[in-house]
Amino acid sequence: MSGPRLSVVWDPRFRSYDLGPGHPFDEASRESAVRLIEASLPTGRRASIEWLRTVEPATDSSLLAFHAGRYLEQIRAASASGSRRPLDGGDTPAFPGCFEASARIVAGTARAIGLVLERGGTAFAPAGGLHHAHRDRASGFCIFNDLAVGIAGALEAGRRVAYVDLDVHHGDGVMYGFYRTGRLLDIDFHQDGRTLFPGTGHVTETGSGDGAGLKVNVPLPPGAGDEALVPLARRLLPPLLEEFRPELLVVQHGVDGHWGDPLAQLQYTASGYAAVDRLLVDLASQSGGRLVVTGGGGYEPRNVARTLARAAYLLAGVELPADPTPLPDAWREEFFESFGLPAPARWVDLPKLAPSSWGSSHEMRLVRDLEGALGRRFPTP
Ligand SMILES: [Zn+2]
Repeated sequence: MSGPRLSVVWDPRFRSYDLGPGHPFDEASRESAVRLIEASLPTGRRASIEWLRTVEPATDSSLLAFHAGRYLEQIRAASASGSRRPLDGGDTPAFPGCFEASARIVAGTARAIGLVLERGGTAFAPAGGLHHAHRDRASGFCIFNDLAVGIAGALEAGRRVAYVDLDVHHGDGVMYGFYRTGRLLDIDFHQDGRTLFPGTGHVTETGSGDGAGLKVNVPLPPGAGDEALVPLARRLLPPLLEEFRPELLVVQHGVDGHWGDPLAQLQYTASGYAAVDRLLVDLASQSGGRLVVTGGGGYEPRNVARTLARAAYLLAGVELPADPTPLPDAWREEFFESFGLPAPARWVDLPKLAPSSWGSSHEMRLVRDLEGALGRRFPTP
């Protein structure tokens, strides 16, 4: 195939979304993924990726497609004051320049969506994925919701959008932001809200008004991994997307469901992510091939860098490096300097998994509950 298969949006200034020393969320690990793509992509496949490296902050009028005017003013004031006080009474502090930094991340995701709507194809915006921000409040490390702003723009342009959220945390900002919206199908796989922030995303939350039946929540118990995620994705996503017929598929590709993540307790592995990424690439044909993937959570930099880089390979149509292909030395040195952690030597570690209690009876029960809540069937594929 000629021409790039994937557009990657990465402006180094995304790093200025910095919630302060010691804060678990950091664009540095997403940057490390970008650096790994650059350093490792085989020379013959470099042309598979087009890089977009300059992104100016989103304007007020585009932020207002989702956020409230008074909230913009609140963030603008906090940003100018140099305050580092929490914006949400919890884990999301203001910081000097936070308005501009957040608005730039929004613009990155909106650019990816705009590009794909205009000319088709696939775009990756790894700095984005701030799915907890609400219309008028910050939450869960997220100040502005890049996904919601981008999706609102696509809806305003008359498009039907499907949103798939893989982050270990429920994407509450997106789901509640469009709970009554009929042109957004929202499917969210996450660790059960009874055991993890933000506490929402129950099977019974299915949307209302025009959105009734279009919000699909798939909560998994702590300890569940690929054996839960992959069969459920294969069972639920194809019929839902086929029926909804979206014109754009947006994926929040948080990687905090990876085993070993310090903030959550699911146990997805590299091969589980690859299986789901391949499925999503296939399913994008349901949306005319228009696919946008963002980053999201992920708090173990070694996992974040490798999992997002592997996702980019699959999105670009490049074969994954065969294990045990070593990681480039220059990248490993840079990783060590950035994080003060020994860099991984290989693309994939042997998973160290705790026993999972997930079995076929759990899948049966969860699917039955979803069928009851949504009033439809999900036959085994
Ligand atoms: Zn998360």
